[in-house]
Amino acid sequence: MKEPKITRIIVDQKVADQELVQRYKRNNPKAEVIEIELTDELKDAMFKQEATPAKRDILLTEKQGHTVKQCPGTDRTYRCCNYHVINQTSNGPIDCTYCILQFYLNNPVTTVYANTEKLLTEVKDKIATQPKRFFRIGTGELSDSLAFDSSSEYSKDVVEYFAELPNVLLELKTKSNKIENLLKLDHKGHTVVSWSVNPQVIIDAEEHKAASLQERLKAMEQVQAAGYKIGLHFDPLLFHEDWESTYPDLIRQLFEVLDPKNIAWISIGSLRFPPEMKDKVLEKFPKSKIMFAELIRGMDGKMRYPKPLRLDMYRTVYKALRQYGGDKLFIYFCMESAEIWERVMGWSPDDNEHLDYLFAMSLYEQFPGLMAAEPERQVYADGIPLHHEKADIPGL
Ligand code: SF4
Repeated sequence: MKEPKITRIIVDQKVADQELVQRYKRNNPKAEVIEIELTDELKDAMFKQEATPAKRDILLTEKQGHTVKQCPGTDRTYRCCNYHVINQTSNGPIDCTYCILQFYLNNPVTTVYANTEKLLTEVKDKIATQPKRFFRIGTGELSDSLAFDSSSEYSKDVVEYFAELPNVLLELKTKSNKIENLLKLDHKGHTVVSWSVNPQVIIDAEEHKAASLQERLKAMEQVQAAGYKIGLHFDPLLFHEDWESTYPDLIRQLFEVLDPKNIAWISIGSLRFPPEMKDKVLEKFPKSKIMFAELIRGMDGKMRYPKPLRLDMYRTVYKALRQYGGDKLFIYFCMESAEIWERVMGWSPDDNEHLDYLFAMSLYEQFPGLMAAEPERQVYADGIPLHHEKADIPGL
């Protein structure tokens, strides 16, 4: 994967002395650096510019308000897993045609919150309020967790911070191969490095500027050797010619590299997007084929493949995962109905809290020593752990 090119670093005076700012400057010596007093008007003007491939600005500023939020997908229409996110970076260098973010964040500015200590302290304080609950928190909701890591070295901050926290796993979710910084860190088993995966034919057509499948496989091999837990996300599954063979073949290749014992979780989900996104995708990516499949409006108003096709794709992927990875893998659906769970896997979680508890139980059994005590169902049944504020994108 090519290094994302940063042409301009705009520094809000309020964070000028932060370590993260120094790293962006040091690691991008050719970028123009501008220090400004950031006002709302200035920010609005910056964000109204049209995105162009030749230009990439990084805005380093300060986060006000809450950082740790509930995953925006969490709702009651579909089964969800009570995941939490830290939105430290918004926008990124990888251009996936299906990505809902290019609909919401279609501007050339990547915003990075550089007041790292405040962000991390908030995580620590929040999880301390429920010490018996085991949390999963990720940084990859509004950006790729690792695509900017050569510039930001942010993985160093988060991985070593989470290593010392007793009741949480950090998830770094990526389509990159930027794992060099991770290999030197003392993670203490508290980080899951996860990859969104798709066959190479889809990477070529729909995941512009992302790492190739071979690059991702090599990166997985290296982080696995460094003792990290691994996550896999078959999300979104995309309908394409020969999908019945490309997905099983992808899964076979993954398990040639990965030991199922190191896999913390695997998600499966399929293409979904708000109807208004269709025209934007066709305009920005005229060669993309994703909008030409049959799509219907789901219970949440988003476009999805019709149920029979989703079932076919899920069953194919699920069967191959069991065939190559065995029956101990923790596999879940991201935003699917109880009916889909039942018809593909033969069971479904009772509700979101039950799924959250099952995650904890699976981690407890698979990774002895990760938790101080066996998870109690009642702790998870007591509802959403953190404040109810949802993350910034209204539903992934
Ligand atoms: S199932 Fe998916 S969308 Fe729902 S909370 Fe979990 S990660 Fe978020």
